[in-house]
Amino acid sequence: MFCAIHAGRRGRSVTLLDHSKKLGGKILISGGGRCNFTNLGAGPANYVSRNPHFCKSALSRFTPDLFIQMVRDHGIPFHEKKLGQLFCDGSAQAIVDLLRSECEQAGARFELETQIGAITRLEPAGVSSGAGDAGSVSAPRFRVDTSRGPIEARSLVVATGGLSIPKIGATGLGYEIAEKFGLKLVTRAAALDGFTFEDRETQMFRDLAGASVDCVIECNGVRFRENILFTHAGLSGPAALQASLHWNPGDPITIDLLPGADPFSFFLNKKKQGSRSTVRNLLAELLPTRFADKLCDLDFQSSLPLPQVSEKALEAFCAKLKAWKLVPRGTVGYSKAEVTRGGVDTDELSSKTLEVRKVPGLHFIGEVVDVTGWLGGYNFQWAWASGWAAGQVV
Ligand SMILES: Cc1cc2nc3c(=O)[nH]c(=O)nc-3n(C[C@H](O)[C@H](O)[C@H](O)COP(=O)(O)OP(=O)(O)OC[C@H]3O[C@@H](n4cnc5c(N)ncnc54)[C@H](O)[C@@H]3O)c2cc1C
Repeated sequence: MFCAIHAGRRGRSVTLLDHSKKLGGKILISGGGRCNFTNLGAGPANYVSRNPHFCKSALSRFTPDLFIQMVRDHGIPFHEKKLGQLFCDGSAQAIVDLLRSECEQAGARFELETQIGAITRLEPAGVSSGAGDAGSVSAPRFRVDTSRGPIEARSLVVATGGLSIPKIGATGLGYEIAEKFGLKLVTRAAALDGFTFEDRETQMFRDLAGASVDCVIECNGVRFRENILFTHAGLSGPAALQASLHWNPGDPITIDLLPGADPFSFFLNKKKQGSRSTVRNLLAELLPTRFADKLCDLDFQSSLPLPQVSEKALEAFCAKLKAWKLVPRGTVGYSKAEVTRGGVDTDELSSKTLEVRKVPGLHFIGEVVDVTGWLGGYNFQWAWASGWAAGQVV
């Protein structure tokens, strides 16, 4: 829709094809129904891609303040929740309405509930072969067969998103189109997703379901300070989701359960003060009681009073509290993940126009491309920025 707006504003004739009944299904369910539509600090460092430089061009030309201005122009109230994350005060429907009305003003047509069939690259009249941009400037270059009949167009923009949440219409069509045109794909994986674990940990997390803890989580050298949330499936919450973006099967995650605190000094001070409490009871001063209990069940079962606990044992336990190492079995999967990491290899695309280098007129934008943002409004900012970039040229 964002690409359609900008192409339409340039006087292009635009048709949006979508098999869904509803426009912007993911926007409607995003941000807990309030759509975290951008992030004030969105920049290339907030994205994961095989080529971390690729997103720079589009992100620097369509910045968060430009989207925020549109939101203001439409009178949509919003607020910063935390960490630069901007949410609607009311329903995410307001963002869909913004996009729909801008599309309509720009003259873009919607063809919803439309199934996409074969996509054919048309040979320009009088041109034998090759990827050259030959033929008349207005001659169509693609034919898309649809359940409503064929459509021919000079440019084809693929904005089919990722694989997450199939029940609201996510499919792998974009990847299939890329493969059909011989483009490389970067391996895809469910990301911004919760972690699952082996039985022992799963049972523990299940018993703690609903509890959350402020922590610093680290995965493959990337650290985030946010909450983890214990669930029936494993670990979720913003910290776990962020870590999942950087996680590959077999990798450990390390969690500092007491960021900014030094539990060893805490216990030594308690010792000096003559405390006769158990480690379990004292730990409950630092962490939610249920969680402190569980950690002690796992790693510190002693019920001796503090004076009888050796410093060595305390030190080892505190080291665990500062660097709790877990090896997830996997992530929950596309039924819950917010995004798909990987996708169309950026080597195939121009970073300025998102056009496929070897297929003039074919563009891939948004989540289908191998550019995946952190949790916090970054993925929408990429969708807007890449859509805007393609919208300038199609
Ligand atoms: C639960 C959830 C919450 C999220 N919250 C946020 C958030 O708050 N902030 C944020 O930045 N990001 C959020 N995201 C991520 C964000 O929604 C996506 O990154 C973004 O929507 C991608 O935009 P897109 O245009 O590339 O694809 P999409 O928004 O997924 O749009 C793809 C469109 O293609 C259509 N389509 C797919 N397959 C076919 C087919 N075979 N035929 C025809 N049409 C097809 C779909 O119906 C859909 O309309 C969230 C994601 C989820 C799942």
